[in-house]
Amino acid sequence: MKIIDRLKEDRIHISFEVFPPKTDAGFDKVLAATDKIAGLSPDFISVTYGAGGGTSKNTAKIAKHIKEDLGVESLAHLTCASSTKEEVRMVIANLKELGIENILALRGDIPADMGFPTEDRFHYAYELVKEIRNSGDFCIGAACYPEGHVENEHKEDDIKYLKQKVDSGVDFLTTQMFFDNDIHYNFLYRIREAGITVPVLPGIMPITSAKQMKRSCELSGTVFPRRFQAILDRFGDCPEAMQQAGIAYATDQIIDLLANGVKNIHIYSMNKPEVAKAIMDNLSEIIKC
Ligand code: FAD
Repeated sequence: MKIIDRLKEDRIHISFEVFPPKTDAGFDKVLAATDKIAGLSPDFISVTYGAGGGTSKNTAKIAKHIKEDLGVESLAHLTCASSTKEEVRMVIANLKELGIENILALRGDIPADMGFPTEDRFHYAYELVKEIRNSGDFCIGAACYPEGHVENEHKEDDIKYLKQKVDSGVDFLTTQMFFDNDIHYNFLYRIREAGITVPVLPGIMPITSAKQMKRSCELSGTVFPRRFQAILDRFGDCPEAMQQAGIAYATDQIIDLLANGVKNIHIYSMNKPEVAKAIMDNLSEIIKC
């Protein structure tokens, strides 16, 4: 089923994310975590794509497993910056052959040693969106950045290019993680003003360790509010307490979003079924209401 058709239903939708193993040796472990996450009956599970190609072949494999063996809809991420156009076309053809209906079209981070993509590559995600649109009957998602993408100095440019991307054939957007809901509400206001009307799924990342927070910060430039920083300062050295506090913080963010009319939530569950389950337990009555 196409995710966009599911999102049209007037109810709350919750989705999770898994990432493929770095080596084939880790495959079974990722599959076991994925199976448990699927057991929570999310509306879909997305599978990330290794920009450098290291784990990319497993993305399609896991997405197929989620859809066919676990009976949950899947969303396969696909990046284009570090592959040639021909390689990207082959991946799209493979996804089509496997019956994958939903693709999250991404540029990916440009490898430090590569510079700006060369002529035989797609330069931006909007070009990949067009390519996928012309390659089959896919539902296409794309990324957006409530705090602005790290490469852009001006937020207006970000929204201008986001509009170009959406107009190229995007059905829905998923946000980069954020920890202050007001940033998301402000972003929603600005993109709606700019004429971007597709559904936007806020991406919520439960931060369960100080190490994870540092990595998230380095990768995305995300701002951590003082309230969150205080949690980290107090509980960062105590793993069990930090996990509990991180789950509570993410739950609180989700409840606030739902209370303010948001219907769709994407949880960066990071191959941690216990974290995904704890959040779902916290929301058990809330998502029924
Ligand atoms: P784009 O939309 O192409 O934007 C990249 C930059 O270029 C932005 O600054 C944008 O404003 C600018 N830009 C866009 N169009 C133009 C234009 N026409 N002219 C000039 N500038 C332009 N990475 C992975 O490697 N694997 C994953 O699975 C993955 N999943 C992700 C999922 C989500 C929900 C998010 C938010 C990010 C994910 N990423 C993933 C990270 C993502 O690949 C990086 O953030 C990447 O740097 C940007 O990708 P994009 O698709 O947003 O690029």
